[in-house]
Amino acid sequence: ASNTAGTASTSSEVRMCHDRIESPADTPNFIDNEFRSSKATKWIPVYDPATNNLVTRVPESTSDELAAAVTSAQSAFPGWRATSIIARQQIMFRFTHLIKENWDRLAASITLEQGKTFKDARGDVLRGLQVAETACGITTQLPGEVLEVARDMETRSYREPLGVVAAICPFNFPAMIPLWCIPIAVVTGNTMILKPSERDPGAALILAELARAAGFPKGVLNIIHGSVNTVNFILDEPAIRAISFVGSNRAGEYIYSRGSANGKRVQANLGAKNHAVLLPDADRNAALDSIVGAAFGAAGQRCMALSVLVTVGEEADYIHDLVKKAQSLVVSAGFDKNADVGPVISPESKAKIESLISSGELEGANIVLDGRGYRSETYPNGNFVAPTIITNVTTNMKCYKEEIFGPVLLCISVKTLEDAIKLVNENEYGNGASIFTRSGVSGAYFQKNIQAGQVGINVPLPVPLPMFSFTGNKKSIAGGGANNFYGKPGLAFYTQQKTVTSLWRRENVDIGKQVVMPSH
Ligand code: NAD
Repeated sequence: ASNTAGTASTSSEVRMCHDRIESPADTPNFIDNEFRSSKATKWIPVYDPATNNLVTRVPESTSDELAAAVTSAQSAFPGWRATSIIARQQIMFRFTHLIKENWDRLAASITLEQGKTFKDARGDVLRGLQVAETACGITTQLPGEVLEVARDMETRSYREPLGVVAAICPFNFPAMIPLWCIPIAVVTGNTMILKPSERDPGAALILAELARAAGFPKGVLNIIHGSVNTVNFILDEPAIRAISFVGSNRAGEYIYSRGSANGKRVQANLGAKNHAVLLPDADRNAALDSIVGAAFGAAGQRCMALSVLVTVGEEADYIHDLVKKAQSLVVSAGFDKNADVGPVISPESKAKIESLISSGELEGANIVLDGRGYRSETYPNGNFVAPTIITNVTTNMKCYKEEIFGPVLLCISVKTLEDAIKLVNENEYGNGASIFTRSGVSGAYFQKNIQAGQVGINVPLPVPLPMFSFTGNKKSIAGGGANNFYGKPGLAFYTQQKTVTSLWRRENVDIGKQVVMPSH
């Protein structure tokens, strides 16, 4: 396996990966706290994006296996719900502890299957771990409210678990997205069925193993694999009360409407086209470093990746430095210690990215840094696209309208901050938008007027930590953003509110006829 050669890390994780490449094992489902081989007749191959060596095969789980996961989650629910919140909290503490102990192992699995650099994969784990750590505070987050609403009368509110809930995950954050879901769903007393991306299931399976070791009783977390058929099963299974989805608009809009039509709660975070506005008064060097990192880190395969740079004033002033900084990034396999930009997920994805770059060229844009056709000498079979910068882009071009999801930065120059805000607001997506400026006045104006869910001021990837919530807007979230992931809205998503109004009088009273609505 060539990904252990050359400058690659010599850590035990890599040796583990090496073993797996030589004798790839099929990926099992995880049901009733057991790893179970699938009896599937259809299998989906998973390739290392840096080498295109086969890593594993993922089953299109059979209907019996899908049904077994539901039975397992249903059977576990009454006992788990009755488990004290203190006991659930202790299990969550152990879970976070085990994630930290297995941090590098999780990251190695991500680098092997997803391709991102090992350091970046550690960040993928961290951003999920932080959700699990925050969920450990459930004993102070879950309490309801109580008010003495009248003499002898009280109303209390409770948050009760929903029952069996499901998560459908994308390929780009194989640890973080499962961890946006599992900790909050489970600590609030639900049982969960999770479907990882069929393109990189490894991290989710390690998380399942750690959950079992942390004390999750059997059935509290089940992992089932597959693609459209498994998703359709989740959408239609009456026992599943809520669905968390993160992924593309194509899948997510379908999942949101079919899941909602079936009476389920659905939270669905979708695609993006994130803009950064660069003002002439910005701290130029820091801004350009941030922009390059946000555009090309993770090979542009983050939902918050920066896709469009809007320069206010003379674009030409910046482009030279921007290109120089982007050229300095090392494109290589994720296990290469020097790598800044890993491969993209698949040859199909590479072809799509390169074709969108070419479409820009055909429509009159200038490719000032061209990453098409990049070939690594050490990893000649990898799906590499090197950083690409395109200037002279207009908003009617295909490369502007579509989510590219690769290491490609489009540059548009406008005259004023107002023009920049108008341009960003006219884009149908609304995940993230950032401004780089030294002016508090401009920053405040941008913050107030921009239509994006997550706004950065001199911060290129303004993803909120889990004490807040992930707040996409417009086409980047289904259902108008009513059901955000993690934070208080995440807790609300996984719980059903119940209010109880009680009346306890010491003395007997004659209350007479009670046929009208009570009034003051
Ligand atoms: P994807 O939509 O192809 O896949 C996501 C999940 O949906 C997978 O589990 C897959 O099996 C399933 N799926 C795919 N096509 C389906 C179909 N036709 N019917 C039913 N299920 C289907 O997404 P991806 O390529 O894995 O992930 C990248 C996308 O996710 C990008 O668009 C990115 O912006 C988005 N994303 C968004 C966020 C966010 O928080 N907004 C975070 C991460 C990724």
